[in-house]
Amino acid sequence: MLDKVVIANRGEIALRILRACREMGIKTVAVYSTADRDLMHVRLADESVCIGKAPSKESYLNIPALISAAEVTDAQAIHPGYGFLAENADFAEAVEKSGFVFIGPRPDTIRLMGNKVSAKDAMKAAGVPTVPGSDGPVTDENATAIAKKIGYPVIIKAAAGGGGRGMRVVHTESALLNSLFVTRTEAKAAFGDDTVYIEKFLQHPRHIEIQVLGDGAGEAIHLGDRDCSLQRRHQKVLEEAPAPNIPEDKRAEIAQACVNACRTIQYRGAGTFEFLYEKGRFYFIEMNTRVQVEHPVTELVTGVDIIREQLLIAAGEGLSYRQEDIVVHGHAMECRINAEDPKSFMPSPGLIRHFHAPGGLGVRMDSHVYSGYMVPPHYDSLIGKLITWAPDRNTCLNRMRRALDELVVDGIKTNTPLHRDTILRDSDFIRGGVDIHHLEHILSR
Ligand code: ADP
Repeated sequence: MLDKVVIANRGEIALRILRACREMGIKTVAVYSTADRDLMHVRLADESVCIGKAPSKESYLNIPALISAAEVTDAQAIHPGYGFLAENADFAEAVEKSGFVFIGPRPDTIRLMGNKVSAKDAMKAAGVPTVPGSDGPVTDENATAIAKKIGYPVIIKAAAGGGGRGMRVVHTESALLNSLFVTRTEAKAAFGDDTVYIEKFLQHPRHIEIQVLGDGAGEAIHLGDRDCSLQRRHQKVLEEAPAPNIPEDKRAEIAQACVNACRTIQYRGAGTFEFLYEKGRFYFIEMNTRVQVEHPVTELVTGVDIIREQLLIAAGEGLSYRQEDIVVHGHAMECRINAEDPKSFMPSPGLIRHFHAPGGLGVRMDSHVYSGYMVPPHYDSLIGKLITWAPDRNTCLNRMRRALDELVVDGIKTNTPLHRDTILRDSDFIRGGVDIHHLEHILSR
């Protein structure tokens, strides 16, 4: 078993990882920037190491500083969390070359999935349905013919893209070459790689994803699906499990395809296959080779502690569950609580004068903040995740409304009103199964 783990992250996920380690008797090392001395998990960790200044580049993205932190504390393994270096194959490789365990997939898997063209190719070959498209990079020479064959509208996407950037929708042939040029230029500037590809632009899809665990030796299971269609500017706002209103045979079929793909690539650790779902069909868009923000909804419906499984797999203990052990029970929902103005969506960092987390049956609050905590302006605005579970979706919705009413975050602005007054009152959302444009649609009313 692992003896000591460096948590190479901050905020709520760092605390989440610390909690799992504590319960397993694993010692923890917190790393923090000079802006983050007061983080809850830094206070709770067995040891802590300051790794640099506030800007992420000088701390949470500084590979040598993170590896030194593992060296000086004599730790065995590094957990990257999500964001920052979690999907950076060079980081995973540097960790392993320095003699530490990387709590995640092998570097070559991260690299394969980090390029959307190679990821799509690999998944198609493994039997996962993908969005019809160019099957590889496009050039000025072949783009027109490819787009014509796929049929407009099409979407041009950067192979190295991520975080909702590096994509452009094209509705007519006359706009194609110019859009190609612009997307390529942006991709080069943002990701250092101007490879782009084309796929069919689906007009009203839902975003549905499958959580998997693989042991790295060809065994894999899935933990069911999540619906993350409520997004603003491609950023998820609310997630739920299981995805409502999907025929059971389709649900089982796509989950099985993901498990088969994990077996084929001998996937190691926790991962997520992201799909667009439209007119009863799933289309793979990308794989996230890390734990996701929304993992708690899956934990609540399956009872599986996903971080614990990551740690066990990294320790070489394999999977603690067989597929037949996994039963999806009830319904769970997560509201991302961001420090931002609910109307303008501008970040709202600052001092939290008073914080009160909701509680009661079926309520979980994953948050690192506390009364007197200062939200720094340097990082993501996520200050917590409010998650509810109930035997059925309607009770889960009522419980979420009740829990949001109990949440107190004084001193800064949060998006709580967006959840409470807009999303959870929307009749289409209440019915279940809205598409990825729905939130922007209700916000523009
Ligand atoms: P990123 O890695 O930047 O998150 P994704 O490939 O996951 O990029 O796509 C992000 C979002 O962009 C999707 O959730 C969806 O909203 C939209 N999108 C991507 N591909 C398509 C497509 N072929 N048709 C319609 N929307 C798409």
